[in-house]
Amino acid sequence: MRDQDLQVFESAVAGIRDEGRYRVFADIMRERGRFPHARLRGEDGAYRDIVVWCSNDYLGQGQSPEVLDAAHAALDQVGAGAGGTRNIAGTTSYHVDLELELASLHGKEAALLFTSGYVSNDATLSTLAKLFPDLWIFSDAQNHASMIEGIKRAKCERRVFRHNDVQHLEALMNEAPAHAPKLIAFESVYSMDGDTAPIEQICDLAEAYGAMTYLDEVHGVGLYGPTGGGVAERDGVMHRVDFIEGTLAKAFGTMGGYVTGPSVAIDAIRSTASGFIFTTSLAPSIAAAALESVRIVKECPHLRDRLLERSERLKALLREAGIPVMVESTTHIVPVLVGDAARCKKISDILLNDHGIYVQPINYPTVPRGTERLRITPSPFHDDELMDRLIEAFKTVWAKCPVHVAG
Ligand code: PMP
Repeated sequence: MRDQDLQVFESAVAGIRDEGRYRVFADIMRERGRFPHARLRGEDGAYRDIVVWCSNDYLGQGQSPEVLDAAHAALDQVGAGAGGTRNIAGTTSYHVDLELELASLHGKEAALLFTSGYVSNDATLSTLAKLFPDLWIFSDAQNHASMIEGIKRAKCERRVFRHNDVQHLEALMNEAPAHAPKLIAFESVYSMDGDTAPIEQICDLAEAYGAMTYLDEVHGVGLYGPTGGGVAERDGVMHRVDFIEGTLAKAFGTMGGYVTGPSVAIDAIRSTASGFIFTTSLAPSIAAAALESVRIVKECPHLRDRLLERSERLKALLREAGIPVMVESTTHIVPVLVGDAARCKKISDILLNDHGIYVQPINYPTVPRGTERLRITPSPFHDDELMDRLIEAFKTVWAKCPVHVAG
């Protein structure tokens, strides 16, 4: 490589460092049966105990003995990899059964698995525009990068409506010709603020304008609704949403993504989406683990109740201690606003190094500049003692690094 090309990389990284948002990945070893405890490898190579407070394994299912047993059994039965794409030797009964289970979870006719939630959004949204050449897509301003990328690649007419602003959405929908096919893409739980979408109002509007609806339930599935179908299930509107997309990597503790919807639409996506067709399917052990996890989570409302109880308690204790929990959050996500990348990193470093508490700083581009935050995600397994230790640590760190932002 030429020197001037290397310099381009160097200056990109230097710029990120200057802004204080250079990403350092904590090297942690999760340990079977110990969640949320883990071990962190330091620069000297030695490991020490920490408590993880920022995992998206929201229900600790990644450590569930039944889920691990299912993964082991599939590994022993069919081997390590899928052996091909879904079309060419890469479909096992685990994949097929998992799709049926996911369709049923969301009350839809069919489901399609992808290798991640990111891929499911990107591949599906870009493909819908291929299927409908004159499609108009209306996208919430805070949609996840995977939806934004899919919509950009769609190269169709697109409009971004102000976050959760149904009136603005309607005004933009009036710009589209009445006969044009339309799709509204939005999320149920916005992962960085922890707020939720007005799903019912958006469905009302979609019906009035003949628009399709595409809902990302990545941070809702498994956690809300009587059977963990997500916020749409909780709100009694699941049947009114056309496409529900989700992940197997958060409440279900494994990996992979999916989209559910009418069988004819899923069939068309299955037959045209490059991100589905041209890649090796999920490892069977992962599909088997996810299948077990979905079945468990469906039947375990107490896990959901406990998660919400834990997050409410944590929010109350933090606020009592004067820590600015963002008021937007009405969900299990507990974002603490810091508002500055360098300070956010410093607080996170002190929590980790002095208190053994791991909360990753969240910086631009994950959140807008000036809204850098610590995103805390309790689980049913963060008990009172761990929580009290977290609060004491936060009080100490806040005294050392005061943050002057409105909470
Ligand atoms: N949608 C949203 C809203 C997300 O936050 C994420 C990732 N955190 C994804 C999709 C992608 O899901 P996955 O991690 O399974 O790729």
